[in-house]
Amino acid sequence: MSDPFATEERRRLRELTRAFVGREVLPHLDDWERAGEVPRALHRRAAGIGLLGIGFPEEIGGSGGDLLDSIVVTEELILAGGSSGLVAALFTHGIALPHIVATGRGELIERFVRPTLAGERIGCLAITEPDGGSDVAGVRTKAVEDGDDYVVNGTKTFITSGARADFATTAVQTRDGFRLLVADGGFRVTRRLDKMGWHCSDTAELAFVDVRVPRGHVVGGFAELMTHFASERLSLAVQAYAIAERCLALTLAWVRDRHTFGRPLASRQLVRHRLAEMARQVEVAKTYVRHVAVRVASGERLVTEVAMAKNTAVATCDHVVDQAVQLHGGLGYVRDAEVERHYRDARIMGIGGGTTEIMNEIIAKQLGV
Ligand SMILES: Cc1cc2nc3c(=O)[nH]c(=O)nc-3n(C[C@H](O)[C@H](O)[C@H](O)COP(=O)(O)OP(=O)(O)OC[C@H]3O[C@@H](n4cnc5c(N)ncnc54)[C@H](O)[C@@H]3O)c2cc1C
Repeated sequence: MSDPFATEERRRLRELTRAFVGREVLPHLDDWERAGEVPRALHRRAAGIGLLGIGFPEEIGGSGGDLLDSIVVTEELILAGGSSGLVAALFTHGIALPHIVATGRGELIERFVRPTLAGERIGCLAITEPDGGSDVAGVRTKAVEDGDDYVVNGTKTFITSGARADFATTAVQTRDGFRLLVADGGFRVTRRLDKMGWHCSDTAELAFVDVRVPRGHVVGGFAELMTHFASERLSLAVQAYAIAERCLALTLAWVRDRHTFGRPLASRQLVRHRLAEMARQVEVAKTYVRHVAVRVASGERLVTEVAMAKNTAVATCDHVVDQAVQLHGGLGYVRDAEVERHYRDARIMGIGGGTTEIMNEIIAKQLGV
């Protein structure tokens, strides 16, 4: 069977992404990690070569392609030496825009989608609140009708790209229940959050105080949010196995090079077996996540399998980054080593986009318990 991830077109997309990382990211990533954000100019550069628009139709300013093309880009941003933090910061529109796109409404496309895919605007997805993130339906931010507008009041937290965002696709409670609406500014950044990892990705707490949002900016309800969770969870699953694959490659190079007691580390059976186990887990996670992604891309609506894919990739990632740091010895614990960054970045994978426990709840429900 031919591999849909290895077509000529996707090979070229992989090369384009790798070249972008080498040219635009690697010389600056350490600075962005210290600054706590990536510059807006990076969005424009990524848009300029069509990367930002992958997975969005050309009619609305995208570059075309589907979920599998987005996966190729995500994989390569990490495998080429970038990071999952970079993916989170530069591709936040992957979670902020789909609900807007799905409405098909021209005014919203022109105002939010087209300029974002051109790298001119930055959007975020604001669901989580200080009182809880797992219980998505329980959000408390209120939107009260007033003439042609909603007036929004509430607090959101842990919002990726929230500190830089021009607009926020926001979960609120209205008189008619849970809704997603797009606030075009008006919210305030009350705190930038310092994190364990993902340092180049800004994360913020946002306050909505009497923010007016036109009624026409409602882009869906709970069902729409759940539909688009599938691609966010798959993206996190891809990031998780890509981190693991990158750490495996870095560790393989290291154990060949590093000598202890007069021999390369790679010659020790214990080390070789650890590497074999890391490689096995990467292969299994990658194969399964890609398999689920192919089914989703072909139109199947999978919830349980996506949850299983995320948990499988996260378990692999957790194991592999831990082993990678261990096999690097002291170097694995210092900022000079790329595996150190991946180790910290990896910890969010089982928390963001629905925690490992929430994925298990989804799976258990399917089992009828
Ligand atoms: C770096 C970062 C970026 C993020 N980006 C965004 C973003 O862009 N937009 C956004 O809206 N949110 C974002 N989040 C929030 C993220 O989605 C939430 O942190 C996550 O959904 C968990 O919610 P919570 O933190 O409120 O934990 P809680 O819901 O309070 O859960 C705490 C713990 O209890 C467990 N738990 C909860 N309920 C159950 C249950 N029923 N059974 C068993 N265990 C349970 C959870 O699994 C978890 O281990 C981000 C978070 C981080 C850290």
